[in-house]
Amino acid sequence: MVFGVMIYSSVNNRIDEIYNVLEVATLGIADTYSESLVHFTDAKEIATELLDERINVVSEAIVLLGLEADKAKIEEITQKLNVDVINIYNEDTEIIASNVDEFIGFVPSLEHPVMKFVESYERSYVEDIRVNAVDGLYYKFGYIKREDGTIIQVGVLAENIHKFTNRFEIQQLIDNIVTRDGILDALFIDSSHNITAHSFPSDEVAFVHDYGNLENLAKNVIQIENCEYHGYDVLQASAPLYYGNDYQGTLAIIWPTNMVDTEIRSIIRSGILEFLVIMTIIVSILFYAYRKNISNVKSAYYDKLTGLPNSLYLEEFLNKEIQELENKTRAVLMLNCKNFKTLNMTYGFKYGDNILIQIAENIKKSLNKDEMLFRFNADRFVLVLGDYDRKEALKDRARYLIKKFKEPLNGDSKYEYISAQVSILEIVDHEMTADRVLQDLSLAISNINTSSVDQIEFFNESMETNIKRQDIIENTIKDVIEGRDYSSIYLNYQPKIDILKNQLVGFEALARMKDKELGFVSPLEFIEIAEKKLLIYELGNYILEAACDFTNNLVKNDFENFRIAVNISLIQIMREEFLDDVRKILKAKKTDSKLLEFEITESAIVDNLEIINKKLIELKDIGITIALDDFGTGFSSFARLHSAHIDTVKIDRYFIDRLDKYDSGNLITSDIISMSHKLGLSVVAEGVESSEQLDYLKKHDCDIAQGYLISKPLTEKDALLYAKSFKT
Ligand code: C2E
Ligand code: CA
Ligand code: CA
Repeated sequence: MVFGVMIYSSVNNRIDEIYNVLEVATLGIADTYSESLVHFTDAKEIATELLDERINVVSEAIVLLGLEADKAKIEEITQKLNVDVINIYNEDTEIIASNVDEFIGFVPSLEHPVMKFVESYERSYVEDIRVNAVDGLYYKFGYIKREDGTIIQVGVLAENIHKFTNRFEIQQLIDNIVTRDGILDALFIDSSHNITAHSFPSDEVAFVHDYGNLENLAKNVIQIENCEYHGYDVLQASAPLYYGNDYQGTLAIIWPTNMVDTEIRSIIRSGILEFLVIMTIIVSILFYAYRKNISNVKSAYYDKLTGLPNSLYLEEFLNKEIQELENKTRAVLMLNCKNFKTLNMTYGFKYGDNILIQIAENIKKSLNKDEMLFRFNADRFVLVLGDYDRKEALKDRARYLIKKFKEPLNGDSKYEYISAQVSILEIVDHEMTADRVLQDLSLAISNINTSSVDQIEFFNESMETNIKRQDIIENTIKDVIEGRDYSSIYLNYQPKIDILKNQLVGFEALARMKDKELGFVSPLEFIEIAEKKLLIYELGNYILEAACDFTNNLVKNDFENFRIAVNISLIQIMREEFLDDVRKILKAKKTDSKLLEFEITESAIVDNLEIINKKLIELKDIGITIALDDFGTGFSSFARLHSAHIDTVKIDRYFIDRLDKYDSGNLITSDIISMSHKLGLSVVAEGVESSEQLDYLKKHDCDIAQGYLISKPLTEKDALLYAKSFKT
């Protein structure tokens, strides 16, 4: 469209020339006309695909304009054509002129895409989007050879592609046409004979309806007629727009002729005719390409649902922002819809989609000029902020956005509040990458305590230290389960004694990590990481194998009637192949299943009772007993316990701790013991630290005790010695 305007202005300039030097009139308009037509027919042929078409047309336009190696002119044209870079290569393929200084002097290597083009017989060439060697940004480049051997290169930044294609709209075209001196009005009539764009003032809409004979105007021939319009003598020029064989509509332009000498009227007529022909051809190409472009560019860089730029766009945008940081302050906010998944599950995906659309709309409306909103993924948005002065300003902005999330959405009776969380990151150095920024923001989100009042978190270094620590732990676990490291993870064994008989009944196997870099790491920490990183299944098998080895060792030393308890995570038992793998390991280790017990936490069993119960039955069939670990913390009722296929209840340390301190603790604990006995379950008390606790447990018939009072967890060697000492 801008191109069209330029062509028009060049025609307009020529009309001026005609005014000044009448003999130029003899130039033969028809000649120019046919020449232009040939150029644009070329352009049309070259314009093959989508964006390529656009870039090609623009390149063609530049060739037609006879662009010189003059920076000011190049800059002017980049602006007018809405492209980011225009370079001129000389015959030796060196950039001799550009709107961007860094490009000047660039000589492509032999492998560079432009070289193939130079050597080819092609006249024009459009590349795929790629990183440019000079500034490291993503561009789409097009090239066109000129007759003098120079090459024009046109580049559009990936993030500007949308702007570039979006600029083409019929109404904008019309608006632009009438900003030029000389033209009174312009209008576009679509293929159904409706005026879809016009420059008439709004109070003359009636006039628009009466305007001419639309059907006559929309005839598929170029027409120039003398008319009277607002008391002026005018020339009304109209031309049909085609793409291929498809009629797209008619462009009509109203020119004044009353100030012009009759002598040159005919010349102007020809000028108008030329302009019109050129215009209609360009518009036809663009009109068609535009429709296709929009959908293609949109699917690559825009989110279909919300219409917001997507994560691909975000990444490119951020990388560019980081490079151009200089002394500016830049911050990025990540917005997370906390309960989106639940709402989706409860009300369905349509409802969820609708919520996202409306949230996007709500936030978009409240954006400041230099802010940009992206849809990062399913339920996360990212806002890139402009300049800000204080950290507190960022927090205010975050609070405001959280409030926006809570605004009721249109026409939704069952609307439930979306609760939002926001993480904030300030970009301070050039070393950052978009990837890192987004990773850090996600990390900060996961760090927000769901129950805290302020659901806002700044990314900070300690999170990063924490991440590094997690990475080290994750790698150590991987090394162990993949057989590269045999010593960093091992088991300790904590004795369990029969309270009444004062006999050793077994040990609980407790995993230990001694990392080369970090030293001792608590199982509370590394087991959680193993679970989060989906390594717990393999690690669990590794632990089970080690426990089998220890069990075998005890057997070899003539111990019998004991059980080694192994802690099993929910994720392990839920895995389909869990039982098969347990059988395989027992078989490979030749370990008697009757010497093993699995400890599974109360909450894991109770929350998944139906699925887990089936597995528990099978485990019992194999001969492995089941202990309900941490009992009392999972809020299960005894009624539910009854239906769970377990053998033992392990009263959580919390209740044992309270035995010395509170009477109520005494009451609850004795109740748990007697109720469990009624259900036929044996009872283990864990974390027994004092003889008073042990006395109480003895008095209330608790079966087994485990805790520091009896022994701390021991190394395999010490555990064996401990067992031997018990025997004699
Ligand atoms: P848990 O299964 O409840 O294990 C008991 C924890 O209490 C152990 O901590 C043990 O050292 C500690 N403990 C034992 N007696 C006393 C005592 O008298 N006083 C006090 N204050 N503490 C005592 P540890 O070894 O740090 O293990 C912590 C948790 O890590 C375990 O809790 C278990 O949930 C998990 N874990 C440990 N090893 C494994 C494993 O091999 N697999 C899985 N899935 N989880 C494990
Ligand atoms: Ca345990
Ligand atoms: Ca426990």
